[in-house]
Amino acid sequence: MYDLLLTGGTVLDPSLGLNGINDVAVEDGKIARIAPSIPAEEAKQVIEVKGKVVCPGLIDLHTHIYSGVNGNGVVADLGGVRAGVTTMVDAGSAGCDTFGGFPEHIVPNNETEIICFLHICRTGLATSPDIFSPSSIDLDRTIQVALEHPGLIAGIKARMVSPALEIMGMEMPQMAKRAARDAGIKLMVHIGDTEKRYDANVIRELLPIMEPGDIVTHFFTANPGGVLDSNKKLVPEAKEANDRGVWLDTAHGRMNFSFDTGQRILDQGIAPHCISTDLTVPGRARTVHSMTEMMTRFLAMDFTLAQVVTMCTLNPAKAVGVDERLGTLEVGRQADISVLEVREGDWVVYDVLASPKKVNKAVIPILTVKRGKVFEAGWGPRPWGWEPDPA
Ligand SMILES: [Zn+2]
Repeated sequence: MYDLLLTGGTVLDPSLGLNGINDVAVEDGKIARIAPSIPAEEAKQVIEVKGKVVCPGLIDLHTHIYSGVNGNGVVADLGGVRAGVTTMVDAGSAGCDTFGGFPEHIVPNNETEIICFLHICRTGLATSPDIFSPSSIDLDRTIQVALEHPGLIAGIKARMVSPALEIMGMEMPQMAKRAARDAGIKLMVHIGDTEKRYDANVIRELLPIMEPGDIVTHFFTANPGGVLDSNKKLVPEAKEANDRGVWLDTAHGRMNFSFDTGQRILDQGIAPHCISTDLTVPGRARTVHSMTEMMTRFLAMDFTLAQVVTMCTLNPAKAVGVDERLGTLEVGRQADISVLEVREGDWVVYDVLASPKKVNKAVIPILTVKRGKVFEAGWGPRPWGWEPDPA
């Protein structure tokens, strides 16, 4: 007897090459069977999802969920299982001096799965600016804390911003790379100087230190230090990084996503691998409301739904190194499932520069299944729910 049966939905799983009407059965928190028709009598709970898209649980590769510690931290489940997302990656909210609260208070109090990148700054993003002196970094302790939390800490985070770069220059990301290498984990680097003060050519020195499997985040940033030079030409190091297997993620946030920059990068032949929100409390109120809104932005940029789902499931699972477990509906895997609706209408989505794009398909979360447990989507972050602004 199955515990749960989702019937009649369009199963879209790029990892399995599936895109068609199928039922999905769940048992003991795992995917038990996918077939065109599974009898309802074989399951304890049946949910009809006709007309909806059923895909592997969405993974948001860049969020800030150190709620109650950092002022900008979102309650994970709000942007997670209540928003169509089954796994959230915290991108450096905590550093070695402040990480202890994650396993003690954040992970046990949320149903959403949490994976962390440890900030190279000792205090993470508890203060702004993060790094204000070389003593903001404790390399040995950073490596020690990373080694103490295998699985929970997947990598080290560094931010290519002022004043850290003015104080330490390339020594800062190099120390982060050393911490990552010594701990046997990945490096994730924020590009784009939000203070707009440091030499924009820093990207050309940064990208060569990134190894296969490392992650560049804010790939579509218009801030100095992004992957376009002053003539809007893609720096050659970006293509080299892409070719050797560096993951390219497009976290939006409050300051680092531009449709114009993105289109210029796409026109020069490089597509990002991952979509993420960079969700924060102030960001959620103004510029980036949910993972499904990010999916809608990419539909507006003419990506197909299958490409968008790949960038929210299979690719981030690989980027974080959890693809043996997440990012697929393969039978036997953890039952992490997102049920979404692609709603037709006339909307407009914006980037951080308030540049608009019209879109006639919006992705709305309906249900989330996490380890077999069902969560309904909460009321959306806008007064009218989940849909983007009306055109
Ligand atoms: Zn961030």
